[in-house]
Amino acid sequence: MIDAIDLLDFKTDLKDYALATEKPDAPLVPGSWCGFCPAAGTCPSLQNKAQAVAKMEFSPVLSYDPAKLKLALDSREVVKAWLKAVDEFAYAEAEAGRTPPGYKLVAKRATRKWRNEGDAMTALQGKGVATSAFMETAIKSPAQLEKLLGKGFIDELVVAESSGHTLAPESDKRPSVKPNAKEEFSVVEG
Ligand code: SF4
Repeated sequence: MIDAIDLLDFKTDLKDYALATEKPDAPLVPGSWCGFCPAAGTCPSLQNKAQAVAKMEFSPVLSYDPAKLKLALDSREVVKAWLKAVDEFAYAEAEAGRTPPGYKLVAKRATRKWRNEGDAMTALQGKGVATSAFMETAIKSPAQLEKLLGKGFIDELVVAESSGHTLAPESDKRPSVKPNAKEEFSVVEG
C-alpha cells in the first residue's frame, strides 16, 4: 500500500531524474539499469566498471578479501549488461557494413526440419516404418497438468526436487541451505 502523496512525490522525482539524464554533464553511474540504456555499448563509465570487475582475481588457491568478493558478485549485472551491449552494438555495426576487425557476419547454424510433417508421416508409413518409430508421446509436466486439472488433483503424484544449490542475495525469500562461517562459529560457541 502506498500513500497518494508519496506516489505523487515519486512521479515528480522520476520526471526530474529523467530530465537530468538529458543534461550534457549528467553523471554516468553504472548499475543494473545499464541493461536498459541505449548508450551501454559505448559508455566509458560502464566499460571502466566492467573492466575493473574483470581484473579482480578469485581462486581457491589465493587468499581473498570477502568484501571484494561481495563487490564482484554485486557487479555481475553491470558486467552482463556491458557484455550484452557490446555484442548488440558490434552486431549492429557489422550489419551496417562496419564489421569489427577480426570478425565476420555468418549465417546461424542451420537446423533441419520437416518440409511438411503430414507428408513426412505419410511417406514414412508408406515405406513401412512403424508409427512408434517416428512419433513420440511424453507425459505433460506437473505444472501443465495442474493448469488443466486444477490445484490438488495431482499432489500425491508429485515430488519437488531441487537440482542443486545456487548463490542468491540475502534478500532472497528461500532459506539458506548452509550456514556461513560466522553462523557456524556462533553455533559451536553457544
Ligand atoms: S550505460 Fe552509462 S550512460 Fe547508460 S545508464 Fe549506464 S552509466 Fe549511465
